[in-house]
Amino acid sequence: MDSCLFCRIIAGEIPSRKVYEDDSVYAFYDINPQAPVHVLLIPKKHIARIENLEPSDADVMGHLMVAARKVGDLLGLSNGYRIVFNNGADGGQEVEHIHLHLLGGLKMGWPPYQLSAPSSN
Ligand code: AMP
Ligand code: ZN
Repeated sequence: MDSCLFCRIIAGEIPSRKVYEDDSVYAFYDINPQAPVHVLLIPKKHIARIENLEPSDADVMGHLMVAARKVGDLLGLSNGYRIVFNNGADGGQEVEHIHLHLLGGLKMGWPPYQLSAPSSN
């Protein structure tokens, strides 16, 4: 997808601070970190949202999870971290290319949101 921000990052057209890369995954630091460590992991295949996943994407999504484990190890997050997929409007997704947020370096609370007006859906 020529116009997709994250596809352009994978292609090297937009600079990023790479943390990890393999055949199907690219990981880089979030430009607006929400935790002391905030890394985004993306499949190299353009998939806009969870709803667009096909059964044949199981391997790439499983690989994304294993890559998250590698990034956690690489960055020394031995005390744990949080993994988030913001999906769709109510999920807070802004970039329409599936991405895994890996957040660490602090003790987080639960739930991760503040109650507000219900969705208009
Ligand atoms: P989301 O709201 O889940 O779609 O998350 C998109 C994330 O992409 C946000 O956390 C942004 O800070 C991050 N982001 C946007 N542009 C860039 C960029 N050029 N490099 C790194 N992270 C970015
Ligand atoms: Zn894309």
